Parts: sequence; structure tokens; C-alpha cells
Amino acid sequence: MAMLRGGIPLGTIFGISVRLHWSWFIIFFLVTWSLAAYYFPDAHPDWSRATAVVTALATSLLFFASVLAHELAHSVVAMRAGIPIHSITLFVFGGVSQMTREPGQPEIEFRMALAGPLASLAIGGLCWGIWWLTRDVNEPVAAVAAWLGWINVVLAVFNLIPGFPLDGGRVLRSIIWWRNKNLRSATRTATTIGRGFGYLFIFGGIFLVFFGNWIQGLWIAFIGWFLENAAVGSYRQVALHDMLQGHTVSEVMTRECPRVSPKLSLEQLVHDYILNSGRRCFPVVENDRPLGLVTVHNVKAIPRGLWAVKTVTDAMTPFDQLKWVQAGDDLSTVLQLMTDEDVNQLPVLQDGNIVGMVARDNLLSFINTRAELGM
Ligand SMILES: [Zn+2]
Repeated sequence: MAMLRGGIPLGTIFGISVRLHWSWFIIFFLVTWSLAAYYFPDAHPDWSRATAVVTALATSLLFFASVLAHELAHSVVAMRAGIPIHSITLFVFGGVSQMTREPGQPEIEFRMALAGPLASLAIGGLCWGIWWLTRDVNEPVAAVAAWLGWINVVLAVFNLIPGFPLDGGRVLRSIIWWRNKNLRSATRTATTIGRGFGYLFIFGGIFLVFFGNWIQGLWIAFIGWFLENAAVGSYRQVALHDMLQGHTVSEVMTRECPRVSPKLSLEQLVHDYILNSGRRCFPVVENDRPLGLVTVHNVKAIPRGLWAVKTVTDAMTPFDQLKWVQAGDDLSTVLQLMTDEDVNQLPVLQDGNIVGMVARDNLLSFINTRAELGM
């Protein structure tokens, strides 16, 4: 999910970077506040305010640890199936594991999708066990365990709703995919059901707002809106992948790439190359040896006042740090690479030379032309 890029890095676990998206703070505050101000004081009027606040903080931190454990369960199963996981991001609606690619087989998707809810159920059961053991011994610990037991089961059940991209929707997709061997049509069915649930949540939320329960109503409507959007986005992504698959870089790449010298000043680059060619990206070559790539993005990173004195060498991405593709590479993997690396274009290499460029625009016009011709 592109909207979840960035975030505050918390650390690495099993080689996966764990991040907090800014929106996470909203839900963390809401959960802690509702526990400290309402839930614990209502259930335990004899507690001091400090006890309620500390217990609430501990509860919400452990709640987010359980969300993380749910995502880790998905990720560990994925990694054991050979799918690298880029990162796990916690955000306002829970957690999301950023896979570097979609699972290639329905059996793998089935296991991956089920792992999260199963982990949540296991944590829920464990918490209820702790509640049972501590209920006469330590009241705050028992209260934390009871709430966590309940919320983890809710988390598992919610995620098992059979609408893509929820876990249950992934399970459903994997079953349809396994039966009819067609990923795209399986995705269409699972995302249509996902959108249906999205609308159900939106209308259910609005209904609640009209009956005076406006905080919960808005919240549910907001979750519905998010689900609907995510379902549409997921289908589009799969359809796109499907359209590009089987076509190679050589079909769309730009071959005339104005090469520039490493000694050129940025001022000259901007005036003599960028402004009058409309191109945004230039291979840097000296004596037929590629040194790197300079883009509008690179130039913008250098303060304008320095353009006259800084050269292309100062701004370029050196060759050894460059991601590149080959003319025979499949377009679907190229799009994936652009998304992973967050770049808009990639140089095309052949025998150690930059022979052209492939940009997002090339892929888009390729798709648009085919869509227009109904292919
Ligand atoms: Zn999940």
C-alpha cells in the first residue's frame, strides 16, 4: 500500500523492518484514552486514577504488540515460502506486511493468510489463560489479560471476513484461484466481496451516526471506506500485473537517451539538456563507460545557487548504486522493481552499457494503448 510508505522505524525483527505510520498515534491515543477514562474506571471503580492510567498504557502497548505478532505470523510463513517481506507497518487500522511480491501459488497464499488470524486466536487463548490464573491474585494483570483476550479474538474474527484484502478475503481468493487456476478472476471475485463489505460498513456506520452513536458510527464508516479503497486498489494491481506479464522491456523502452558528460555543470545540464529535451533522466558516460545516471530528482536535491559550480558527478547516482533492468526482462517485474525502489525510471543495460531507459510513463502508455484497442 503506497499510502503507508515511510513511517518511524522501530527496529528489525527476523530481518523485517518494523515501522510506525503517523496515523498509528491516533489509534494508540484513542485506545489508551478510552481504557483509562472509561473502561477501567467503570469496571473497577475502586482503582486509583494512576492505576487506571498505567494499566491502560500497558494494555494498549500489549495490544499493539499483538497486532505486530499477527503480522509477524503472516511474514514468517511468507518468508518460509521464499517471499521476502520488506517491512511491517503499524497504522490506524492495524498492521500491514509489505510483501515484495504476491505469492505465486494458491497454497502459499492460503497458509500465509490464515497464519495471522490463527496467531491472534492463540494469543487470545493465552490471555484468557493468564486471566484465569491471575483473577484472584492480581486484579490489574487479570483485567489487562481479559481485555487482550477479547480484543485478539475480535481481531481474528474481523480479519476472517471473506473480503479481499482482509485475510479472510485472501483465503477465499486462494481457494477460488486453486479451483479455477485464474488469479485475476479469483481476485475479481474476492475484491468484489471486499467492496461489498466496505459498503456494508459505510452504511452501517452512517446508520449508527443517525442513531446518536456517532463516534463508533464514524469509525466504522471510515474502516468501510478504507476497505473499499483497498479492494479496488488490489484488483487494479493484479489486473495491471496481468496486462504487463509476458511482455518485455524492449517493447516499451526509450532508445534515444541523450548521454551527458560527468564534467558538465548542473546549470548546463538543466538549460542544454533537461529544458529543451523534456527528458528527465540522462545516463552519465565517459569514454563509452557508464558512470551513473542523473535525473531531475537528483538535480533538485542540490540547492539552486550551486548549480553553476556543481557538476553532474556531484549529483548523479553512481553506477554501482543503480538499479537496472535488461531488455529481455518481463514488464511485470519491472513495475514491481519501480514500486519497491520508489523510482520512476530505470536504465536498461546490455553488456555493461546503458542502451536505453524504461519509465513508468512507458508502461502506462503501453497499458492505455492496449486498453483502448480492447486487447
Ligand atoms: Zn492479517
